[in-house]
Amino acid sequence: MGYAKLAVIAAALSSGLAAAPLDDATRGLSREIFRELIEIDTTDSVGSTTLAAQAMARRLLDAGFPPADVEVLGPNDRKRNMVVRLRGTGAGALKPILLIGHLDVVEARPEDWTTNPFQFVEKDGYFYGRGTQDMKVNDAALVTTFIRFRREGYRPNRDLILALTADEEGGKSNGVDWLLKNHRDLIDADFVLNADSGGVTTMHGKAVNVDVEASEKLYADFQLTATNPGGHSSLPVPDNAIYHIAGALSRLERKPFPFELNAVTRDYFRRRAERETGQTAADMKAILQTKPDPAAIARLSTDARYNSTMRTTCVPTRLNAGHANNALPQTAQAIVNCRILPGHSAEEIRQELIRIFADPKVVLRYVSDAGDIADRAPERQAFPPIAPRPDVLKPLEKVADEMWPGAPVLPGMETGASDSIYTMAAGLPTYGISGVAIDQDDLRMHGKDERVRVSSYYDGVDFFYRYLKALASPR
Ligand SMILES: [Zn+2]
Repeated sequence: MGYAKLAVIAAALSSGLAAAPLDDATRGLSREIFRELIEIDTTDSVGSTTLAAQAMARRLLDAGFPPADVEVLGPNDRKRNMVVRLRGTGAGALKPILLIGHLDVVEARPEDWTTNPFQFVEKDGYFYGRGTQDMKVNDAALVTTFIRFRREGYRPNRDLILALTADEEGGKSNGVDWLLKNHRDLIDADFVLNADSGGVTTMHGKAVNVDVEASEKLYADFQLTATNPGGHSSLPVPDNAIYHIAGALSRLERKPFPFELNAVTRDYFRRRAERETGQTAADMKAILQTKPDPAAIARLSTDARYNSTMRTTCVPTRLNAGHANNALPQTAQAIVNCRILPGHSAEEIRQELIRIFADPKVVLRYVSDAGDIADRAPERQAFPPIAPRPDVLKPLEKVADEMWPGAPVLPGMETGASDSIYTMAAGLPTYGISGVAIDQDDLRMHGKDERVRVSSYYDGVDFFYRYLKALASPR
């Protein structure tokens, strides 16, 4: 037990939380829940969130939750969601707190991985498997926490609702959207905590800051198409469809979207600069000036995370062209995936891409989340940053200070996209919060050999127990 752990215990005792470090039984239970979730394939192609939802429901029922408070429901057999409610005291008539987590995972090809992505493997101090970062890690932490609360007979000052859902990563049956449209009563809340974003940023295991998502980029896919009558490949003609697509994409590569900060990202870089040293600290200060230094922007842009915080990004993710090795291509297509800064719409970015591609032979269409292709994109803008609520952030700062002393709570902008877009659209203030620590240079969500430090997982389990108690204990 290191000094940090002792400090955590001392702080917990003095604050009256009485949260001892994770006991062996809780570690065992949380590991078993994590293993079970990783080993249930929940990809859109062949997996089933229903099986994962049922497995979690079974564990909650076994722990003593009344059947009336545990539901597995959804639009079809393969895409069900799980909703559980821990009843509060009812005193004070406070509206519930909703916690959300997605059960589905991105596709993973076993041949790309060192381990089997759908097997839970502990190796070199890490847990490996698809979903160990995004985001079964937090689903498991939350289910464990609900089970602990139930077994203790803990009664929060208001209901706590946990919804584990389908199709955040893709697919046509987004669970949060479906629940809001069909069973709003089941998940209606004062505010929402989405464990899909936020979390502890570490460098070589040392905590640097505790991130809270207070703003989010907008997700948009675009399809480029070039067509040509085709013909025999021994007789090349001008206007080869593949050249048109390749040319457009290389122009995109050379033309990044403009640098732009907002209230949340400015504050993020200001706070972050205080933690950095040398050139990086100087660069972060330099981009906050009235006239941001282009050289500083360029240097920070080499870090993918800073780059995507400073601008809208669009990157080609798929190519598809031609029908035979000895024929001229009649059709060439590419998908470009964009992450759009708040204040801009997908249609605005489509128009900008058309200018960057500068090729009337390349037709640019919008691809909706459901996969439908449209000539124009929605005019809807990414949500403006939400005002931080002290009743959400104060308890977080307290628990973060106990668990990761010296690492400040840092509200920021999520560069990916999450289900928060649905809850925010439904008028529910949503914060991305998690206690799982990931090294800044070890971000493997959606990639191969996805993993999380074993100690980081158990801290994440411990975090929700402490934070939810700090947030919702009767006074
Ligand atoms: Zn996710």
